[in-house]
Formats: sequence, structure tokens, C-alpha cells
Amino acid sequence: MHGERRMKFVIFNQNRPGVVVGEEVFEIGSLIKWNAKNMHPSLLHFIENYDEYKGIIEASLPKLPSYELSAVKLEAPVPNPSKIIAAPVNYFSHQDEMNEMFNNAPHTVEILKLFLKAPSSIIGPDDSVRLPYKDRRHDHEAELAFVVGKQAKDVKYEDAKDYIFGYFCLLDMTLRGDEERTFRKSFDTFTPIGPWIITADELGDPHVLDMKLWVNDELRQSTNTQKLILDCYKCFEIASHNMTLYPGDIITTGTPDGVGQVVAGDKIKMTIENVGSLSVTVENKYK
Ligand code: MN
Repeated sequence: MHGERRMKFVIFNQNRPGVVVGEEVFEIGSLIKWNAKNMHPSLLHFIENYDEYKGIIEASLPKLPSYELSAVKLEAPVPNPSKIIAAPVNYFSHQDEMNEMFNNAPHTVEILKLFLKAPSSIIGPDDSVRLPYKDRRHDHEAELAFVVGKQAKDVKYEDAKDYIFGYFCLLDMTLRGDEERTFRKSFDTFTPIGPWIITADELGDPHVLDMKLWVNDELRQSTNTQKLILDCYKCFEIASHNMTLYPGDIITTGTPDGVGQVVAGDKIKMTIENVGSLSVTVENKYK
């Protein structure tokens, strides 16, 4: 399928569900039993019944209300997961730079396994990251993330792809320092996600994708997801060995080298090939 025509799921303009095709957003609330006032159950219903809804949406596109993509406000496509599971040190290039900068990365994800970020840290595209300290270093980490499609426990590597609903960009914003990872990465606004979910069937292989991040106009991070130490399916296997995964849960795969500090006034932009681009601005939490 041609890249620009791939269908992506979005939430936009105050909790409305839609699909993006090309430069248009089609509102699908009338098709999928969506309750904007109680959105998470609606999202789970959509995720769990996507195979059925996909054909209905495609057949209905010409009749749906539509908007120019550039004219809508996109929101976090998974605003309230039961958990965000994250991979530490999942590119060797990031391990090397952390040892050069802080001498503190003796292990990779293979030993460390996974950690949790607070779901309350999620924000959407075009929102602002708010830095909690004036005298500390806050870093960007560009990551490929995915959302769980059905309940899973002890799922083997070779079966994991059947449990993944779709993929998106994630910024794992991080306070550097000696506190636990979960504390340093769970401040409000520290998990921008989006700009949409590209469903697994539309994306194809998630392990051949260029990923880049800029701060203002400076390219800071550039890799390909083939360099992941543990790929998406291995992260899924390990996570589901540890805990029951529910539809809507997020797993984020870790960042390559090039992490660096952001300060108030910066604009962060990341892109993942065939997935999309996510931009946020940076502000101080306290003026
Ligand atoms: Mn990270």
C-alpha cells in the first residue's frame, strides 16, 4: 500500500476519534460506539474489535465528516493506559554515550529488563513538556512505542506480533540524576506520544525504520530500529512474563545515542519512517 494512503487512528479536537488518510482526518465516532466523556473504554472496544471495524471504516470513508489534517488539534492517541512499560539501555550506542557522560551504564536491557513510567505523564502532539527543575538536566529520548491489542500473559516471542495493535512515536523525557528511573521519567508531561497510531497491519516490519530527533533545527538522534538490542517482540515477551498486559497498555523500546538536554523555549521534533512525526515545545513548570 502506498505510504501516504495508510490509515492511522487519531484522537482529535477534544476526544473525537478519527482516521487519517493522506492529509485528511475522517471522524469515525458514529461507527465505533465512541463515548467522548468516557473515552478509555471506547478506545479499548475499538482496539479489541479493530479487525471488524477496519472494513466498516474503509467502506464508510466517503460518507464521513472530514477535516484538513492541518486544521485539527491532535491529542494523545492512547491517553490513559493502565501502564507504560519502558526499556532502559536498548541500543549499544546509548550505553556507550551514557558511560562517556556519566559512567553509569554497566548493563543493557538484557540484564536490567524493564521499568514503569506513570501513565499520568502522557501528553499529545503540539502540547508542552514542562520542566520541573531550573538547575537540573532534562533530556529528550526518541523511542518507537507500541500499544497492546489484547490481554497477554507469558506470550512467546514468535506470537508477540499478534498481540500488538499499533505503533507510534514516544518521547521518554528524563531527569538526569541518581533517583530511580521511574521517578525521573514520570513527571507530568514527560511522555509525549503520537501523532497517531499506525496499526500493525499497515506498518509491516517495525524493525527496519529510520528514527530521528531534532531540537530546534539541530539533528540530535538518528538511528534505525534494526539496531535495537531487544526488538519489539522480545520486549513484549519479557513484559508479559513479568505482568499481565491489557489492551491499551504501552510498551516503549528505548532510545539510541544522541540524548541531550532541553531547556525552556526549545522545540523537539521526532520522526519515525512510515510512522509519523511528533513535535512538542518545552517550558519551565515554574516561571
Ligand atoms: Mn528511554
